[in-house]
Amino acid sequence: MNIKGLLFDLDGVLVNTEHNHFIAWKRTAEKLGISFTEKNNELLKGVSRVDSLKAILKLGDLQVSEQEFEALLTFKNDIYLDSITALSPADLLPGVASLLLKAKEMNILCGVGSSSKNAKPILKLLGIASFFKVVVDGFGVKDPKPHPEVFLNGAAALGIMPNSILVFEDAASGIQAAKAGGFTAIGVGNPHVKESADVYINDLTEFNLEEYV
Ligand SMILES: [Mg+2]
Repeated sequence: MNIKGLLFDLDGVLVNTEHNHFIAWKRTAEKLGISFTEKNNELLKGVSRVDSLKAILKLGDLQVSEQEFEALLTFKNDIYLDSITALSPADLLPGVASLLLKAKEMNILCGVGSSSKNAKPILKLLGIASFFKVVVDGFGVKDPKPHPEVFLNGAAALGIMPNSILVFEDAASGIQAAKAGGFTAIGVGNPHVKESADVYINDLTEFNLEEYV
């Protein structure tokens, strides 16, 4: 396939901070006297911070002022940010470290394309920041996924055409973004993207870079 570059989504592909988000929302809900379970948390998957809080307020049949709403968003984000400071290389998802080493050995350039505003500090905590030539994060993008902007900016920074890049994604919106940008989309660890991805793997241990270069 003559692949020259790899672009990775962050959350769900390189690391999983889903549980950190859950704990932060749970404490926010409990502050409001609303009980919040793992099952309730399903409502928030792939949902923005603002819409997540709206869903929690609805769950408790509560209304708050605009000011209080903002304060709750900050409360949640502070708990989340505090909890991710404990991330370490041990939190890398299976196969990440060996794929990054392999890519480096084969001179395949790597980048990250994530809507998270915390992408750079998280990569540092995970000990893999030096493997990426570019990190396009939530600060560098106008149109979020499924718009392809995040990956197109990544490709431009790598200096490689999209058709020579593989995008690794766990979310349906990310697969859509990759395909809209002309990339080959590798779905990772989310059975819901099995159909839409060009190739599907359960985790990165199942991926063999040598088949693509
Ligand atoms: Mg993701």
